[in-house]
Amino acid sequence: MDKREILKEFSADPEKYYNVKLFQEQGFVRKSCTKCGRFFWTLNADRDLCPDDGLDTYSFIGEPPTSKRFDYTQSWKQVEEFFVKNNHTSVSRYPVVCRWRDDLFFTIASVVDFQRVMGSKVVFEFPANPLVVPQTCLRFKDLENVGVTGRHFSSFCMIGQHSVPDLGGYWKDECVDLDFRLLTNQFGIKKEEVVFVEDVWAGGGSFGPSLEYFVRGLELGNAVFTEFQGELGQHTTLDQRVIDMGAGLERFAWITMGTPTAYDCCFGPINEKLFNAIGIDSDSEVLKKYFTEIAKEIDHYDDLNEVRRLAVKNAGITDDQLNKMITPLEGVYLIADHLRTLIFAITDGALPSNVGGGYNLRMMLRRINGTINRLNLKLDIDDLIDTHIDYLKDTYPELDEKREDVKAILKLESARYEDSKIHMKKKAEKIRERGAPSVGELITLYESDGITPEYLKEVDAISEIPSQFYSKLSDLHQSEKKKAIAELPLEDLPETETLFYKDDPMEFDAKVIKVFDDQVVLDRTSFYARGGGQEPDYGSIAGFKVINVDKHADIIVHKLEGGTPKEGETVSCKVDETRRANITKNHTSTHIINASSREVLGSWIWQHSAFKDDDHARLDITHHSSLTEQQVKQIEDAANKMVKENHPVNIDYYDRGTAEQKYGFRIYQGGVVPVKSVRIVSIEDKDIEACGGTHVKKTGDIELIKITKTKRIQDGVVRIEFVSGPTAFQYVKDQEENAKKQAADDIAKQSLEKQREENKEKAREQIPILLEKVISGESVESDGINTKDKLCFTSSENYDDYFHQNFGKKLVVKDSSAAYCGIFEAGPTVRVMIFAGVESGVNAGEIAKEIASILGGSGGGDAKFAQGGGKDTSKKEQAIAKAKSMILG
Ligand SMILES: [Zn+2]
Ligand SMILES: [Zn+2]
Repeated sequence: MDKREILKEFSADPEKYYNVKLFQEQGFVRKSCTKCGRFFWTLNADRDLCPDDGLDTYSFIGEPPTSKRFDYTQSWKQVEEFFVKNNHTSVSRYPVVCRWRDDLFFTIASVVDFQRVMGSKVVFEFPANPLVVPQTCLRFKDLENVGVTGRHFSSFCMIGQHSVPDLGGYWKDECVDLDFRLLTNQFGIKKEEVVFVEDVWAGGGSFGPSLEYFVRGLELGNAVFTEFQGELGQHTTLDQRVIDMGAGLERFAWITMGTPTAYDCCFGPINEKLFNAIGIDSDSEVLKKYFTEIAKEIDHYDDLNEVRRLAVKNAGITDDQLNKMITPLEGVYLIADHLRTLIFAITDGALPSNVGGGYNLRMMLRRINGTINRLNLKLDIDDLIDTHIDYLKDTYPELDEKREDVKAILKLESARYEDSKIHMKKKAEKIRERGAPSVGELITLYESDGITPEYLKEVDAISEIPSQFYSKLSDLHQSEKKKAIAELPLEDLPETETLFYKDDPMEFDAKVIKVFDDQVVLDRTSFYARGGGQEPDYGSIAGFKVINVDKHADIIVHKLEGGTPKEGETVSCKVDETRRANITKNHTSTHIINASSREVLGSWIWQHSAFKDDDHARLDITHHSSLTEQQVKQIEDAANKMVKENHPVNIDYYDRGTAEQKYGFRIYQGGVVPVKSVRIVSIEDKDIEACGGTHVKKTGDIELIKITKTKRIQDGVVRIEFVSGPTAFQYVKDQEENAKKQAADDIAKQSLEKQREENKEKAREQIPILLEKVISGESVESDGINTKDKLCFTSSENYDDYFHQNFGKKLVVKDSSAAYCGIFEAGPTVRVMIFAGVESGVNAGEIAKEIASILGGSGGGDAKFAQGGGKDTSKKEQAIAKAKSMILG
């Protein structure tokens, strides 16, 4: 939908859409901006320009319009106090990792907290009405602006003010009245300073008017009245109208402090540490002038580099000031901002990686590392993390609990960055030779090699970072679409009664509702359909084998083999109980392994995905490194401890909102739950998940869990394969048998080896006797030597290097018509050695060369003595046959 058209329509009838009670009471006048034409409401009848174009834009820098000064945390206290006093519930922030929406990695607005997706529809679920929330939001689109513009953040606190008028909340009049009083009464801003601008909001099929409120050109908040659905003109009023007022807490702090940038008043004491590191006083006239210019120009240009150049010119900044003040300052603001975002994201369970939302986090840490290197700063990241958390913990106590985890993850990631530098340097050199890469090439460089444009700039491989880089990367990694399941024409069929959620009979009768080829729909079923990573039940329906079961919305479809019953028939059905029991044990084990991994490894462990079949199962967890043998053992031990302790596995149904409030978002280990009533599977307080699968009654029923294999399957994800119950016992038995067999094999091998050594020893003693026998024409067949006259060949394993050397050499000395060829194994190679008497007619060199080439190696020597060999032991028999025929004819 075109927002401009909606705005035109709404602004054509301001009485209906925008003129709230407050405007009439206070005497606001409606004006049209003489520069851009936008409509705005003001108490100052002389004002002709909208806030964006006004002459007072950003004049609060150095001269704030409030009598009191509030920094970031103090500003929230003021906002919270005001709304609570006015009958709002103050709700704790939701995680920044958006576990309750599968179309978003991160929470991007306060209203997202309360949106739940049901099929293709978005519904609202508010835990209180009206409410206010200090929601940390992550947005990576403007990453290039962070640290540079003075007002862009990679994460910011959106003050969310939400009300549902039809469920006891309020609507437009009261909302605007509250927002006005928040600014004027609570923050002490003069009434004349507040300007409301008419705007609209549209998205997700709904739309409505909105009033943005500004003070001195700074947009502090936007009150959206989500009211309509459908196409403009044919639109209807929503069943549930919602007020979505979002305001930037950072901006509230900024307007009261009047600092050169919003960063100066929002990061707390960390700034001082960073300023000390670069030796700058942020409270200088030059900086005020420069950042005021940046603020004024930023909306008028697309290219940030252009804005920067213009601000440098207008503020009269010298090259020296630019290099010694502005550039380092931008760097430390970036560090403070990015670090704060990483603290929130890691606290909420996200990891920097090469997949999904992890891309943006890794990018930010690399930007921090790159900036530290570029500016040659000596910073203690752990100390900076502590400073941030100490400042924020009053508003966000949960950050305090994950302090050490955040440090551990960032340390590991920074070490990885250092390790990858040699590789990055080589790539950067190539880029420098080839010339400036395109935005697409830069994205590929980051995605496949982890090379950030900051790094390339740092090493002078590129001169500027293209302005679209971060927005394009962010678009690629904001969300991913889930694939849809194959569709059957099931529209008119009733919902299948799911017996496995009731008394779960393994044998039952049911009526055949519908048959599609080999697929059957029943009115009721105890066959568990594939879902949540759990494989389906097998068994029989009317005597036909059930080979697959799938769920299509509320209808369960059974795939049969060998034929199908007729529609309308009542049939007897039987679930394969052994298979089901095994799958069930594996499923509960998945929950246990998840909990024990979290216990052993850290709070960042989440289920990434899971698979539970009857004879094996696997759990993919979010973790930064491969597991060590010791960690695997610890996880397995912790899991079996839970099994031994025989905890009850409880299943309870909750209203979704209640479950989220009671247990938090860790219940969504298996992903989003698109139903209002959620099934909570809990093993005491060790593991609590929303899950639709089948489970044992007590953990002791599992008896045993064995981890069979672990593997880092992608950056940030580790796969744990395991077995449980009877399969685990079988696995242990097999392992033991294998070990026994291995031990027996080792003993046999050792005694064979010993025997051979003894034989070789004996053979050496036999040399003089054997020589006599050969010379005198006696048979030495029984000693493993073939002869033809005085030509000898052996491949007996009883003879070694020493034997061949001595026997061959002596033989041809004793009799010049004799020749000798021995083939034997020496280490990983097969070797051949040939001695030929001058009258034997044998050419030793030729044989060695030929045999060595068969064995894939080389041979050398002359006609009288030669040797050679090769590593291709598979050709040993071929080599023996050839050598034998070459010498014996
Ligand atoms: Zn204007
Ligand atoms: Zn489960």
